[in-house]
Amino acid sequence: AGGKPYVGRFAPSPTGPLHLGSLYTALASYLDARAHRGRWLLRIDDIDTPRNVPGSVDSILTTLEAYGLYWDGPVYYESEHPADYEQALSELQRPGLLYPCTCSRKTLAERPGRHDIYPGICRNRTVFPTDRPYALRVKSDGRDIGFDDRLQGSIRQNLAEEHGDFILKRKEGIMSYQFACVIDDHLQGVTHVVRGFDLVDSTPKQIYLQQLLGLPRPSYLHVPIIIDSHGCKLSKQTLAEAVTMRNTSAVMFRLLELLKQEPPVGLRDASCSEMLEWAVRNWNPEPLIKIHAIQPEMIEESV
Ligand code: GLU
Ligand code: ZN
Repeated sequence: AGGKPYVGRFAPSPTGPLHLGSLYTALASYLDARAHRGRWLLRIDDIDTPRNVPGSVDSILTTLEAYGLYWDGPVYYESEHPADYEQALSELQRPGLLYPCTCSRKTLAERPGRHDIYPGICRNRTVFPTDRPYALRVKSDGRDIGFDDRLQGSIRQNLAEEHGDFILKRKEGIMSYQFACVIDDHLQGVTHVVRGFDLVDSTPKQIYLQQLLGLPRPSYLHVPIIIDSHGCKLSKQTLAEAVTMRNTSAVMFRLLELLKQEPPVGLRDASCSEMLEWAVRNWNPEPLIKIHAIQPEMIEESV
């Protein structure tokens, strides 16, 4: 935004090798950055240590390189920034903004009503327990958060109604994705976030945190997610296979088709780097407008 030089990023979690869906997002953010003559940074979202799978970082880096997706500068690891998160958290320690929550998953699951909205049980707690672990929640207020997604258009959410108070630091002491992401994007100087549509619901929470911390807001573009024939997002849970390291140009060509870039047939036998060069020159995300999901095996359709 605001005439600042473009800085983009790809931020995979090291929970396994890249699959078609994660490489698709990586490619979209790479092309958008390079088409803007911007920097493209790589961040490893490894803060959720219990979920990290040994060997995934190496495999992610090797895969990106095999596809010609070279990032700028050193890799940023969330695990190297605990002091930055604590510092930011301390800036939010204002009266009545954060509170300790000792609710168990079970208590919350047994309550009637929507389970994705925290019902505010601990909201009025002011004393931080010393005898048991607690999560830190931030109060959402009645404000509407709106932003213009470059593909999905105008998105508005009332945080209090649609999410309730959300967690910044989990009981186990791990910072939440929402909180870490805001700090990371800020520390990396990210101006443009390009990521999957599955995260669109996180964006208002992240914007709210940026507002509380007085941080600049990047621009957002949420690309469709790749779904399988059952309509599920490709992920480790759905046992999505690791992207192949052999026929990389065939995969690259397919990814460009799935990004609706209509690569010319003449490019089919080209190398990844030739395809990337073409794709950067011709990058146009507009055909993806309002599309939330793409199913590769079937006729591409919006959901
Ligand atoms: N690490 C997150 C994921 O793999 C992405 C975070 C982001 O792009 O904001 O889903
Ligand atoms: Zn609670």
